[in-house]
Amino acid sequence: MSCFDDRSHWLSAADTKLAGASLLYVMETQKCGHCKKRKPESGRVCSLCKAKQRERHRQKRQEREQAGLCTNCGMSPPVEGAKWCQACRDKGAVRHRSQSAHRLKHNLCYRCASPLGDTPSNYCESCVFKIIAVKNLGDASRADEIAELFDKQSRRCAYTGLPLTLGVDASVDHIIPRSKGGSDALQNLQWVHRQVNRWRSDMDDGDFRQFLLQVSQSILASAI
Ligand SMILES: [Zn+2]
Ligand SMILES: [Zn+2]
Ligand SMILES: [Zn+2]
Repeated sequence: MSCFDDRSHWLSAADTKLAGASLLYVMETQKCGHCKKRKPESGRVCSLCKAKQRERHRQKRQEREQAGLCTNCGMSPPVEGAKWCQACRDKGAVRHRSQSAHRLKHNLCYRCASPLGDTPSNYCESCVFKIIAVKNLGDASRADEIAELFDKQSRRCAYTGLPLTLGVDASVDHIIPRSKGGSDALQNLQWVHRQVNRWRSDMDDGDFRQFLLQVSQSILASAI
């Protein structure tokens, strides 16, 4: 399947022609393909038009939901407990699979489709930070903070000094565990090796450091 075929699932011939024409327009004039006034920061549409589009889509989805219809097609009732009807869900699954295959094949980030280069994960660094921020702090907007912390630690484990690889073995740890009342504030966070994080579990920071010291002394002693 070529890349073009990939996209034909979700772009009709007319859409493709329109998108091509608008891309040409943007390339030639350096102006938003929608308002034809402002310069887009990236893509075809300026940020203001993008925001308006998002808001229109959000409203449409809301209206459909309130009317008890699939928020995607607005025609059939949704599957119970879901927002989309069965047909849209099936189409979405197919699209998702072909999109994922396309991204894998072309070494693009699984989440945002930006080029991965040598990144050893299927996600770009910026997406990994977002995913970890959501998973650990319940908030993608904390991604920048933990990215800064990662660099501040020279991308090494706070306990062992081992170099960390983002998207592979780097994990965010709460210095005072959440189970013991520790908060999500930046001062209570550190990057540690995923395996070390598991090993520590909910041990106190000081106790764990003591434990690591004993383990390393014992290993050194038995090596002599
Ligand atoms: Zn615009
Ligand atoms: Zn539908
Ligand atoms: Zn990404």
